[in-house]
Amino acid sequence: MFKGLGERLDDIFKSLKGKGRITEDDVSQAMREVKMALLEADVNFKVVKEFVAQVKERAIGQDVLESLSPAQQVIKIVKDELTELLGGTQAKINIASKPPTIIMLVGLQGAGKTTTAGKLAKLLSKQGRRPLLVAGDIYRPAAIKQLQVLGEQLNIPVFSMGQENPVKIAQSAVENANSTGRDLVIIDTAGRLHVNEELMDELANIKGTVKPHEILLVVDAMTGQEAVNVADTFNQKLGLDGIIMTKLDGDARGGAALSVRKVTGTPIKFAGMGEKLDALEPFHPDRMADRILG
Ligand code: GDP
Repeated sequence: MFKGLGERLDDIFKSLKGKGRITEDDVSQAMREVKMALLEADVNFKVVKEFVAQVKERAIGQDVLESLSPAQQVIKIVKDELTELLGGTQAKINIASKPPTIIMLVGLQGAGKTTTAGKLAKLLSKQGRRPLLVAGDIYRPAAIKQLQVLGEQLNIPVFSMGQENPVKIAQSAVENANSTGRDLVIIDTAGRLHVNEELMDELANIKGTVKPHEILLVVDAMTGQEAVNVADTFNQKLGLDGIIMTKLDGDARGGAALSVRKVTGTPIKFAGMGEKLDALEPFHPDRMADRILG
């Protein structure tokens, strides 16, 4: 049976009650369990090592608080540190002082970009924005149609120029938003099965031309370690402003979120929680910390 971290730490600290202080030995034992829990949650090994060292330092020599058991106390330290590492507080998107705000969604094929474009349009229109969705994924045969169908469902306009050059599409879309009074432009871009130069060059060209206020990487939480490499590469080439983790409704423990955040230093701004159009939530670092700890 899978034991949650709390239970495992309780076992270790059983003998500690009444001892008064958490010693280095106690902490070392506890940290082995923390390490296991994080690795099981699919957190990148390097990230785990660094994290554990940091927590260890904080935990050693702490007085055992009256109100908490030592296990709970260590968990609290671990949770606080994890939350901090995941960004601390909830990160918001940049809104342009002069509309339209331009958001560019990037990521590998299948990560959930097109679906997320629709979800984001819905979420932000509920907050009073007037989005324009832009069909910039011209290579995946069904992507344009998929976005148009989403737009119809949401009653949000979709800008498309068929297979035209994506840079031109993005540029024309912004002009269209200006002339039709849309204050938010969400550009769906092409993904590939793997990161490649051509894809990156195209994205960099769109970036250079329309100068988005937000470049958000859409990444599949289920892909674990691969998500880390993808995020690192996209961040180096494009400079990301944020990350949207999709498929967090699946059984991934969410370790990828921690690794991706740590490796890129970029905040996770939203979490995809299902296939439906309302299944996008602002990302909450504290809830994710709970989930990672199990
Ligand atoms: P794209 O190639 O990146 O544009 O990916 P799509 O938007 O076409 O999504 C690929 C698949 O992932 C579709 O079947 C979506 O319904 C699904 N998907 C996207 N986001 C989520 C999510 O948060 N949870 C789940 N369970 N499925 C998702």
